[in-house]
Amino acid sequence: MNIDWVWLQNQLGRNKVSFNESVRSTHAQDESYHSPHLPDAVVFAESLSDICHTMEFARQYSIPIVAFGAGSSLEGHVIPIKGGISLDLTRMNRILEVRPDDFLVCVEPGVTRQALNDYLRPFGLFFPVDPGADATIGGMAATNASGTTTVRYGGMKNNVQALEVVLANGQIIHTNSLAAKSSSGYHLTELFVGSEGTLGIFSKIWLRIYGIPEQNMAAAAEFSSVQSAVKTVCSLIGTGVLLARCELVSQQYLEIINRQLGTAYTETPTLFLEFSGTSSSILADVKLAETIALEEGCLKFTAVRTEEERRKLWTARHNAAYALMRSYPGLSHMSTDVCVPISKLPEAISLAEEWIRRLQIRGGILGHVGDGNFHVSLMVNPNDQEDLQHAQELSHHLVDFALSVGGTCTGEHGVGLGKRAYQKAEHGTALEVMREIKRLLDPLDILNPGKLVDD
Ligand SMILES: Cc1cc2nc3c(=O)[nH]c(=O)nc-3n(C[C@H](O)[C@H](O)[C@H](O)COP(=O)(O)OP(=O)(O)OC[C@H]3O[C@@H](n4cnc5c(N)ncnc54)[C@H](O)[C@@H]3O)c2cc1C
Repeated sequence: MNIDWVWLQNQLGRNKVSFNESVRSTHAQDESYHSPHLPDAVVFAESLSDICHTMEFARQYSIPIVAFGAGSSLEGHVIPIKGGISLDLTRMNRILEVRPDDFLVCVEPGVTRQALNDYLRPFGLFFPVDPGADATIGGMAATNASGTTTVRYGGMKNNVQALEVVLANGQIIHTNSLAAKSSSGYHLTELFVGSEGTLGIFSKIWLRIYGIPEQNMAAAAEFSSVQSAVKTVCSLIGTGVLLARCELVSQQYLEIINRQLGTAYTETPTLFLEFSGTSSSILADVKLAETIALEEGCLKFTAVRTEEERRKLWTARHNAAYALMRSYPGLSHMSTDVCVPISKLPEAISLAEEWIRRLQIRGGILGHVGDGNFHVSLMVNPNDQEDLQHAQELSHHLVDFALSVGGTCTGEHGVGLGKRAYQKAEHGTALEVMREIKRLLDPLDILNPGKLVDD
């Protein structure tokens, strides 16, 4: 059947449907090493009705529709591997309603995390989920993103209150109420968060927001080994110290950060910590954390006293992966993402270090260690089979270990293309239930086909 693109252009307006080669190529890949694939067209949705018309069109011709936010995902999620439409949602970037007294905000999917926080600041409020990249809220919800603050506030699953979703059959549904808790019905919000554009397109998202703490204080705790740093994290959590952030930065990464960002951190495994609360509660938390860290072999514990130094520390952490990318121009970025029960973290990180040495990996370890989640970020030459094989070997070893101790192949980046092979091992017979849900909601397989539950 010939595809009548003119119908779609007439429904939406010509400026919203692009066949331009360079526009298509910016929608052919994400920020990973996965090979790009061009969509046939890029649609820039500006409203709910644009999404509905595009869905109707995709259904009529049985062509794929792949939602696109900031395109910062790391497992090939947005690559339209079977062509079709890349549905860009970045023009749907309005903040629709703030309810300061209910600690809720309603946004369109293309609002970015930073734009939302800039908007919320005058209300004394903020949205805590922070994946580093300036991702869209739609993309973050669809990947169940998390980040440096998850140890305190949880990830997207904990912070998406409700969704408006356009289903493949054109129906528009609203999941969940605005009440803080509910025992009513199946929890569809949880089903859609993390569904990676395979079950529906989010057109509106209600988020939980929080009061900006009276005070924040950061600290850097230096160790002679990654293991003693990670053991310290287990002790901190065990004693109930209220951590707002708890990040491991390996020696290799600090070398890269110092070189690229002009900082002068000691090049040894370091925990970047943050505490938040009132001025008196923070001082007590920092003191307790210092005592525990020194007992566990911390070489030097430095409380970061000024706001400028605190910002510098987190800027360095957030730009670490980009600093690595800049160190190896021409190579592609890959990141492992296992998450394990916290007691297994020292073992998992030892294994990672051993394989980094053995395979001579270019990169280092970064970790949201308070959650049991860490990344080996590495640079690969996608045209060099041996290089690619080494990177994949490292990832396999880590995933195998994580699954053997009850962990997961992906703590936050999601499945996309890169983690499909592990879904059976991780979910067993539950994978078939997921596939039935996919078939029920998307019988024509038009929503981001070939991802997540597909072999
Ligand atoms: C340097 C760097 C650091 C990163 N660090 C982290 C980190 O710490 N934690 C973390 O979780 N991630 C991290 N990421 C990965 C990435 O930023 C997250 O996965 C982010 O949530 C993706 O958001 P996005 O807007 O870029 O989505 P995209 O990449 O555009 O899309 C991601 C997925 O969501 C789907 N999607 C997008 N919008 C919608 C919608 N409206 N409805 C339905 N589906 C939709 C897409 O189809 C796709 O499957 C990092 C990435 C980079 C480059």
